[in-house]
Amino acid sequence: MSKYIESETHQQYIKHQMNHYYTYYIERKCLKCKKAIPDQAHGLIKFCEREVLPDGSIKSCKDDFNAAKRKKKMGPYKAIGYYHKLMHDRIEILLREKGELVSLDEILSYGINLTRAVESDYDQDERNFIHYFVGYTFREYLEKEFLITVDNKYAT
Ligand SMILES: [Zn+2]
Repeated sequence: MSKYIESETHQQYIKHQMNHYYTYYIERKCLKCKKAIPDQAHGLIKFCEREVLPDGSIKSCKDDFNAAKRKKKMGPYKAIGYYHKLMHDRIEILLREKGELVSLDEILSYGINLTRAVESDYDQDERNFIHYFVGYTFREYLEKEFLITVDNKYAT
C-alpha cells in the first residue's frame, strides 16, 4: 500500500488526476472569486466548491457571497441602530453627571440631538414636547428645561 494513502498529498494527487476529466467550454465562473467552474459541475452551480483549508477552516465562496449581500442590505439599518445606541450612551452620561433636570444647552453640549429622537410627540395637554430615545425620555418641563426619565418604550 502506498504511503500516500489518506495523506493530503495523495488527495491532491487524486484531485489532480480528476482535473484531467474537467472541461471548461461553458466558461462559467464563481460569482465570488471568479475561478472557473468545470462544465461537469451541476447546471445550477454558481460558486466553486467548499474547501477545507489547512488550518481546518472552511472556505465557502457561496457563504461569503451571501454574507456580503446580506451585510450590504442591512447596512443602513445598522447605521441607524448604532446612532441610537450612541444617543443612549450619551444620555446615560448626561443623566449621571447633571441629574434628571437638564437645560437644552446641557443636552446639546453632550451631543444629544432631540430632533433625531426615535419618536417625538406632544404631551397630553399638547403644550410640551416629549422626545423618546431608546431607554430614556426627555419631557419638556420649563422653557428650555427637560426632565429625563427612564423609559421602557424603546428599551434596550
Ligand atoms: Zn469561488
